[in-house]
Amino acid sequence: MRLIHGAVSDIGLVRTQNEDSFVAGGDLFAVCDGMGGALAGEVASETACRFLMQLGSEGEPAERLREVVRQANAEILKLSTEQPGMTGMGTTLTAAVRQGDSLVLAHVGDSRAYLLRDGALRQITEDHSLVAEMVRQGRLTLEQAMVHPHRSVITRALGTEEGVEPDVTTVSLEVGDRLVLCSDGVSGLVLEDRLRQILAAGEEPQATAHELVKEALAHGGYDNATVVVIFVVQGEESEGCTPSQIVFGPQRRTLGRGQSRSSDLGSGVSADTPPPGRSVSGGRWRRLYKGRRVWIITGIVVLVILVGIGGMAVFNSSVYHVGVDGDHVVLYRGLPATVFGIPFFTEVEVGTASYRDLEPYLRERVDARELTTKEEGQRFLRSLDSEG
Ligand code: MG
Repeated sequence: MRLIHGAVSDIGLVRTQNEDSFVAGGDLFAVCDGMGGALAGEVASETACRFLMQLGSEGEPAERLREVVRQANAEILKLSTEQPGMTGMGTTLTAAVRQGDSLVLAHVGDSRAYLLRDGALRQITEDHSLVAEMVRQGRLTLEQAMVHPHRSVITRALGTEEGVEPDVTTVSLEVGDRLVLCSDGVSGLVLEDRLRQILAAGEEPQATAHELVKEALAHGGYDNATVVVIFVVQGEESEGCTPSQIVFGPQRRTLGRGQSRSSDLGSGVSADTPPPGRSVSGGRWRRLYKGRRVWIITGIVVLVILVGIGGMAVFNSSVYHVGVDGDHVVLYRGLPATVFGIPFFTEVEVGTASYRDLEPYLRERVDARELTTKEEGQRFLRSLDSEG
């Protein structure tokens, strides 16, 4: 049998950076979805891919994958604690290495691997995420998990703590099998049934990869969308991978006029291209809100403002003051203030006493517009009325 593949990574329609990376070529396939904000997520996912490309061919693939994951984890954690600006970065990793007629998979995080065989689609990785945990416990359905506000919280990621171990599984391949590795920017937006249809219908892997990313964009493109598609076909076994056959991508660029948004096998960065040097920081996190920090901060600010306005309104409706309207002394509810011409107070009771006829010391008390209670204010108003 022979493996043929296609791969596409797209920045999506909302993000300003592509933090996903992939490897595709020869016998090695992987998708890594970085997180950590600024440039850190890209560094994390690229670092994981760089280590994967040094996998070598000596020994058991499962053991080699475990070792590479350990090394990549240590390196990302080191960068994250030593480099300013890279605090708490991390990455998912879903990697597959061919071994004869099998594929050995290593997996950390919530990127996914699916297998289509005989028309049926099966997810062959288990998400390390909060919502997946809840689905396993029967507290959420798959559909609810897809729209859950905490669906991006992952419980295992490379570079976030020491001793991160991947799930490792082996899938024996059959001619006709089709596999997809993808980031949550695809699996979180494309329903499994649609994914199955596209995968089953595709005539060749690269077009299929494009079709899957197109579908993710059609459903909002809220996240970077990356897919590696592998078809198992009849033919001579390929000769293992040399670095030059491996595509390591995507190219880092932000969306701009006249630029292509996607990078695919044709435009990926070559294996020999070192990742751009960046300065990076210390610290780590357990649960990771991937790339949604801006939205979280905006949400918090809006919440604080709303709570402030609400609290203010409650306070304002509980205080009173005495003031003047024309020649009448009036009890008002609210603060004696006007903002942009809008008064903070409303009339509650109009007295009968004439302001002009009041004793100077009483006028002074009215002019002071001191805050008071309703009862106190009414008592004052009555006392003025009886004066008049
Ligand atoms: Mg993602």
